[in-house]
Amino acid sequence: RSNRRLLTAANLSASHGAVQALEDVSLHVDEGEIVSLIGANGAGKSTLLGCISGRYRPSQGTLEFAGRSLRGIAADKRPGLGIALAPEGRSLFGSLTVEENLMMGYFSQLRRSGLSQLIAPRGEHHRAMLEVMEEVMTFFPKLRQRRHQQAGTLSGGEGQMVNIARALMSRPQLLMLDEPSFGLAPQVTREILESLPDLTRKGVSILIIEQNAKAALQMSDRGYVLVNGSIVAEGQSNALLERADINEAFLGWQ
Ligand code: ATP
Repeated sequence: RSNRRLLTAANLSASHGAVQALEDVSLHVDEGEIVSLIGANGAGKSTLLGCISGRYRPSQGTLEFAGRSLRGIAADKRPGLGIALAPEGRSLFGSLTVEENLMMGYFSQLRRSGLSQLIAPRGEHHRAMLEVMEEVMTFFPKLRQRRHQQAGTLSGGEGQMVNIARALMSRPQLLMLDEPSFGLAPQVTREILESLPDLTRKGVSILIIEQNAKAALQMSDRGYVLVNGSIVAEGQSNALLERADINEAFLGWQ
């Protein structure tokens, strides 16, 4: 496993109006790692992912991705750099098919508008897109049988798989997952979490937000604990899982 730094957030602060959501947060993700970000409702987890995806602008601090500053880079340019977000909840296009939703993920990283090229069956991007789709489907084989089904009719677990698969369609180096267990049964959650190490073997690093701290730490290399916008603990997941204070704080989330 290489230890090359992929993402570095240094001394990041961010506010939503009068609400300070993040204060002096520093965190990193190395190539090949799965890193968990855990914390209660309102701790600032989504705000942190939003700063990395470009949805929110930090009021202070710096973000570096693959050796370059993200300052001034708009959200719609970040997938093209290798940063993808699978957002919380149901954000699929319900009336589009699974395959069409995945195509939307592929568009997101095209630097020029490739829409008409993509729609044209012999367009320059079409073949490449189909290749990426095949590769993405190998991570979630269940989606293969569902590819022509309307996304709005999928089960919760299948919908989450499409949500993640769509993010993967931009061929990210960093995949950010916002609460993939949201609304899912424990067994379905486990199935999704267990697919993640396969991705790191393909060169995708993962930053995952979870309220279900135990499940998240069990499948990640390292973790950060966020309380009221600040990081209060960090380290190897095994070590965090063994800490009594952390166990105590996380009781009831499992
Ligand atoms: P959850 O687990 O509930 O999603 P979270 O840890 O992701 O929570 P954030 O969504 O980042 O937390 O929210 C951090 C704080 O910022 C909270 O106090 C929240 O109410 C506030 N906040 C988040 N988004 C906005 C917004 N768009 N406008 C105003 N306040 C916001």
